[in-house]
Order: sequence, then structure tokens, then C-alpha cells
Amino acid sequence: VGTLVSVYESIVIGAGQAGLSASYHLVRLGIEHVVLDGAPRAGGAWQHRWDSLTMGDVHGVADLPDGPAPGRSGDRANQVVPAWFERYEAEHGLPVRRPVRVTSVRDRGGLLEVRSDAGTWLTRTLVNATGTWERPFVPAYPGIGTFRGEQFHTHDYPGAGHFRGKRVLVVGGGASAVQFLGELAPVTDVLWVTRREPVWREEFDEDAGRDAVAHVQERVAAGLPPASVVSVTGLALRPQELEAARLGVYDRRRPMFARIEPGGVRWADDATRPGEPAFEPVDSILWATGFRPAVTHLAPLGLRGERGGIPLLPGTRDVQTSVTAVRDARVQLVGYGPSASTIGGNRAGRAAALAVRRQLAAASLPA
Ligand code: FAD
Repeated sequence: VGTLVSVYESIVIGAGQAGLSASYHLVRLGIEHVVLDGAPRAGGAWQHRWDSLTMGDVHGVADLPDGPAPGRSGDRANQVVPAWFERYEAEHGLPVRRPVRVTSVRDRGGLLEVRSDAGTWLTRTLVNATGTWERPFVPAYPGIGTFRGEQFHTHDYPGAGHFRGKRVLVVGGGASAVQFLGELAPVTDVLWVTRREPVWREEFDEDAGRDAVAHVQERVAAGLPPASVVSVTGLALRPQELEAARLGVYDRRRPMFARIEPGGVRWADDATRPGEPAFEPVDSILWATGFRPAVTHLAPLGLRGERGGIPLLPGTRDVQTSVTAVRDARVQLVGYGPSASTIGGNRAGRAAALAVRRQLAAASLPA
């Protein structure tokens, strides 16, 4: 193998919040590692967020270890967070290499072989921190391929200006859908459909946050695919969305349609209420239907359980975050399931570094 160099004690894949936190703690513990990141520059998924998302709009970006987060402001999140990550990587001497896209990880004689578009490496342990941004999810609906209009996913949202004068259908019940409706309702004609009744909340306190994380943690412990933490925290309206609410956009929500036709979407007769048309013509469909964990490169390791998710071991008494794969304790998943938020990714980074140290110590004991 051309670029096979040496055996690392650990390799971190991904340099978002979770990967940077893991690398910081690995450095502190003196564990030799490299961080392989597929993006062209620092910033993790934040470099790809749409231009209108400001630091005042985000739910709150948590601090990195020994690196306070930038505060709320009207500045663009896709500039502020990448600049902060870039400084952080330099200040803490984190060994990040980019762009390096990992294509697979497999077992090779007790070591892990990490293949990428820029070479192959061997490592004793792995911290996977690849987030979800690269796996946008669009549900399969009958007729989706026949639609003559345009379709976007949150991943490619071009900004409200693009939709001026077009009739837009927003699909999804999460925070992104609510924000898009907030931006679109004042400038164009919008319709909203969701699969489930959205959960609105008045206040979001720490107890509610803990409950949400615990719920996702239970799903992962049971081997189910993780739900997004926001999907269980509920949605709040910020000032810019109150204007959309005043225009009535959130009240006109309808359940999911039955099929997509060339010129619009059609509901089953029993899903329409009196006065509601069974067919709505639309020019654009905006799928705000979320993301899935970007973990296909781990498939050769066979980490998935029968229920579709990658089960994680429960946390320990002193480190409560779950990060270690049940089927292979050499592999830690951070920013996955219960730790898929900036605060969770941060904590998981520490848990993963400690688990890596434990794993290396156990492996060096005589059999
Ligand atoms: P990411 O930031 O996605 O970083 C993953 C990195 O891994 C990327 O740099 C990527 O290039 C790299 N990568 C992926 N695959 C590979 C591969 N095969 N090889 C090499 N590198 C790879 N959470 C909050 O806590 N607060 C918020 O305000 C908030 N707002 C959000 C807004 C939106 C629109 C979305 C979609 C999510 C938001 N989240 C928010 C959730 C948020 O994305 C996560 O909390 C956090 O930023 C994810 O960090 P991460 O380190 O897990 O992953």
C-alpha cells in the first residue's frame, strides 16, 4: 500500500465539534493520533449551513474544551464557527489532515485499517466523529421521480430569495422546517406538511434537555437507529418566525400527502378535511426531513445490530456518555445518537479519549 506509514494509537475521523473535542483530550492524555477530515477547511458541518442562518438563530453552540464558543450575534454561522474551529485547531496543536475522505474501515489482523482517498493507515483504536450532514434523508414517496418542479433538501437550501414567486411545499416537522417557513412565508406562497403533529414548547429548560438526551440514549442502548435530539426537544418560535405565525403558515399544516404528481401533491381522500383540496399544485418541494448518521464507511466492521442502529455500551459511573460500540470496543462513536448535539459531542469527545486509553491499556496487557 503506497502511503502505509505507521500504526497510530488512535485515528479520529471528522473534525467537527465532536472530533475536535476527542482530539483535544487525546492530546492531553498523550495518545498519538491523527484527525482525518473530508472537508476542504475547518468548520465541520457548520461551513455548509445556509447563508441566512446567523449566530442569533442557532440553538446555541456549546464551548469546546478550553475554548469558549463565540456568542450570539447577527453574523453568519457558516463563517463564525469555521473561523473559531480553525483558531482552536491551531492553538491546541491538533493533528488535523484535510481533505482526507475515509472510504472504509476494516479489521486487519487485530488492527484497524483506515482507507481513504489520500492513503491508508493502520490504527489500534478509532474515534468516529463524522456527523450527519453528508447523509441527507429524503423519504421515498410514490411519484417522486415524476415531479416536474424543483426539489431541495435542507442540505442544499438556496435561501428564501430563490423561491420568490414560486409556490413552495415544505416537508418536515423539525427546527429546520420551522425556520424555512419563517423565512419563506413573508416572501412567497408556502404550504407545510408533516408526518407527525409537531411538538411545540413554551420553555426549554435543562430538565427537558436531559429528558431528550436520555430518550435518545435509551433508543441507542436498545440498538435502534438514533432519533435526532431536536426531534424530542420540541420546537420554539423565535421572533422571525412569529411573523410567519401571524401570517397563519403554521396553522395551515397538513398531514403527509399520498403521492407526488408532475404538477404537485395529492392526498388520499380520507386525509382531507372539509374544504381542503385533495390536490395542491406546487413549483418547489423543500425536504426538511433530516439526516442520518454518516457511517457507511464503518460497514465492513459489522457494528450494526438487528434493529438497524449501532448499539453502544452504557456509560460508566464517572463518564456517563455512551460512546463505545458494543460489537467492537476499539471503536468509539461521538456525535452519534445521544451525543449528536454540540454539547453532547463535546462530552462524548472526553468519554471517547478515556475509552481509547482504557482500550490501549487492556490491549497491552499480556494475554
Ligand atoms: P459535523 O460538524 O458534521 O462534523 C463531521 C465532520 O466529519 C465534517 O467535517 C465532515 O466533513 C467529516 N466527515 C464526514 N464523513 C467523513 C468521512 N467519511 N471521511 C472523513 N471525514 C468525514 N446542534 C447544536 O447543539 N446547536 C445548534 O444550534 C445546532 N444547529 C443545527 C442546525 C442545523 C441546520 C443542523 C443540520 C444541525 C444543527 N445542530 C445543532 C446539530 C449539529 O449539527 C451538531 O450538534 C454538531 O454540529 C455536529 O458535530 P459533529 O462533530 O458531530 O459533526
